[in-house]
Parts: sequence; structure tokens; C-alpha cells
Amino acid sequence: MNLSQDILIVGGGIIGLSLAVELKLRGASVTVISENFQQAAARAAAGMLAPQAEQIPPSPMLDFCLESRALYPAWIEKLEAITGLPTGYWPSGIIAPVCEGEAYEKPESSGLNSQWLDKDAIRQHQIGLGEKVIGGWWYPEDGQVDNRALFQALQSAIKELQIEIVRERAIELIRQGNKIFGVETEAEKIQADRYVLATGAWSEKLLDIPICPRKGQMLSVSVPKNYPVTQPLQTVLFGKGIYIVPRQDGRIIIGATSENVGFQEGNTPAGMQSLLAGAIKLYPELQNYPVQEFWWGFRPATPDELPILGASAWENLTLATGHYRNGILLAPVTAKLLGDLILTGKSDPLLAAFNYSRFPSAGLTQLQSQLN
Ligand SMILES: Cc1cc2nc3c(=O)[nH]c(=O)nc-3n(C[C@H](O)[C@H](O)[C@H](O)COP(=O)(O)OP(=O)(O)OC[C@H]3O[C@@H](n4cnc5c(N)ncnc54)[C@H](O)[C@@H]3O)c2cc1C
Repeated sequence: MNLSQDILIVGGGIIGLSLAVELKLRGASVTVISENFQQAAARAAAGMLAPQAEQIPPSPMLDFCLESRALYPAWIEKLEAITGLPTGYWPSGIIAPVCEGEAYEKPESSGLNSQWLDKDAIRQHQIGLGEKVIGGWWYPEDGQVDNRALFQALQSAIKELQIEIVRERAIELIRQGNKIFGVETEAEKIQADRYVLATGAWSEKLLDIPICPRKGQMLSVSVPKNYPVTQPLQTVLFGKGIYIVPRQDGRIIIGATSENVGFQEGNTPAGMQSLLAGAIKLYPELQNYPVQEFWWGFRPATPDELPILGASAWENLTLATGHYRNGILLAPVTAKLLGDLILTGKSDPLLAAFNYSRFPSAGLTQLQSQLN
């Protein structure tokens, strides 16, 4: 297949699909190769939009995350208008409860809107918190989106906008000189003018780039049907090593482990036990709610836990990977800034901190061996 003058995005997770929609709406011709929507971390995530609760210190990464959080309402409105589908975007605020014996340092990003709630005040914000909760930080501007609904809406937008999806596995980026010449899949060779690598945790299989999977196990419970309200939890609870994310339809998502075990699949008793114990400590009522589902996913992690975005060692290859714990949050800003870069050549200063060249060997060894 020859897609001359076109952009070929390899990887159809939240980052690949958000960028495809952005590029198409701005007039480009786009194709996405994606093997399997089910395996995307986009489906596995909790959907928190949480630069403050995540305690990202003042840095280009914090600026990037805050910019994306600010873009969310308009981005969601646009997607919902294209598809007619809800995404469960809920600027619910996030409480970071502190339990007995835990430190409660003031967040470093203290110029931002946040408030310490003492033992009584936190219970006025959210009833039903565990006895060990002695207070907590309130971040009114953090929030959440139902990442599965959002991912569904993105897939629907792809159909509405008639963006072609090739449901195959890319097995090689074919290089020629300092350019990518094509992408070899299991079935065919596909050529385009420009290429984007958005393959999340699997990126290292296609390119010499320091990305490795960080596994996260999750589970969900649901508020019992006979309960007086659909959802008693009205805000996200973000504790130490545990978070509880209520959805407006009565589901409650509990996450997540963080494990360096490669692509090892499945939920483990130890993983489930630690999540349940942590969640019940924060919000004891959960222990009586019916369990709905267990699942796991792979975050794309880099050595410094920052994404790898923008130019690569190949003139016509853009990198859009390594979003680690914040890919749902970062989808709108990544799509916007990489859209600008690809279509106008303009690189926003915010992208500078995320260039692949901060890893001296990344992508260069292969280029050098091509040139020798
Ligand atoms: C348990 C868990 C909880 C999380 N919670 C949050 C959260 O609350 N908030 C937040 O902002 N982020 C969260 N994240 C992180 C977020 O999910 C990721 O950062 C984000 O999904 C990365 O997006 P991506 O598009 O790069 O990768 P993915 O969403 O993983 O998509 C990559 C896609 O590329 C495809 N692909 C890979 N290789 C190939 C190939 N060779 N050929 C064809 N297709 C290929 C895969 O099949 C997949 O569909 C969480 C992640 C996990 C695992």
C-alpha cells in the first residue's frame, strides 16, 4: 500500500488515536496501524487527570500536564460533538487522604490551588472515610474521565472522520539513509510520507528506544443496586499506593499495582490483596460492594519517567510514546503540540524537555549502523 503525502501512525492507543483525529481535523490524510485495541493501556487505566495529586514537582512535565488538564473540557466537547458519545469527563476534584503514621508534606507545586483538610473537614467533603484517615489535601482542579468511554469515543471519531485503521501488527520500520522508507506488517508493506511511533509499552520492539512495560493491576466494584444513591463517592481518593475512582454510573475503580515484571499477564492474589486492603482502609464501606472485574495493563515507562516526544533520528519519524502514568491526562496536549510540529514544523517550547536525545544512545545506534 502506498500512502504518498500521507501520515502513518503506528499504534492506536489513546495517543495514536488522539493524534490521528487532530491531524485529520486539520486537513491531513491519516492511516493508523494497530494490532489490538483491547491490549491498549488506554483501556486499563483509571482515567485520573491528576497532575497535582500525582505530586509532579514544578518542572516542564508539570507545565505540560497542567496545559493538558486545561485543554480537557474543550477537547471532550469536540469529541462528544463528533461522535454523540459520552466520555464520563468529571471535574470531580481529587482528595489525597493521609492516614495515621503517614507524612503529609505540603505539595511542592504550592502555587497551585490546593487546601489542607483536617480530620473533620475531610469528612464533610466525603462521608464514609476510614478511621485511620487524619486529614488530606484537596485538589479541586484535578478530575477524571471514564477512559474506556473516551477510548470508545475516539474509535468512533476515527470511523466518523473516515480515518483508515489497518488491524495488523507492525513488525519493522524499514529504514533507508536518514529516513523511514516504510512499515512492514505481517501482511504487507505500507509506505507514507511521514510516520509516527505511538506504540506505548511495546515501542522498544520497533525502535531502539528506552521504553519498558510497568504493569498495573486493577479491579472494580459497584455500588449495590438497593443503595439509596447511585454513587456515594463524589470525588477521587488518591492515597499512598492506592486510588479509588468513582464513576457516575455506580462503578468504582480501584488501582493500581506498579510492577517491573515485563509483559507478564494476569492478576495475582498478592496484587488483588494489596489493592483491596488499601481501598478498604480508606473507604471501609467498599468491603460489602460486589466485585465486578479484575484486569491489568502495561504503562509505557522511560528511565526518567517522562514521555519521549517529537523529532527522532529519522527525518520523517515523529515519536509519541513513553507517557507512563499520565497518558490519559496528556492525550489532548500531545495531540495538539505534535499536530503543530508535524503539520507546520513548529516545535512548542514545552516539547523541548521530552526530546529523545536526552538518552544518548536512543535511536542513534541503528542510524549509525545504517550509515556505516
Ligand atoms: C493500570 C494503569 C492505570 C493507569 N491510570 C492512569 C490514569 O489514571 N491517568 C492517566 O493519565 N494515565 C493512566 N495510565 C497510563 C495510560 O494508560 C498510558 O500512559 C496511556 O494509555 C499510553 O497511551 P499509548 O497510546 O502510548 O499506549 P497504549 O494505550 O498502550 O496503546 C498502544 C497501542 O499500540 C498498539 N501496538 C503496539 N505495538 C504495535 C505494533 N507493533 N503494531 C501495531 N500496533 C501496535 C497496541 O496494541 C495498543 O493498542 C494508567 C495505565 C495503567 C496500565
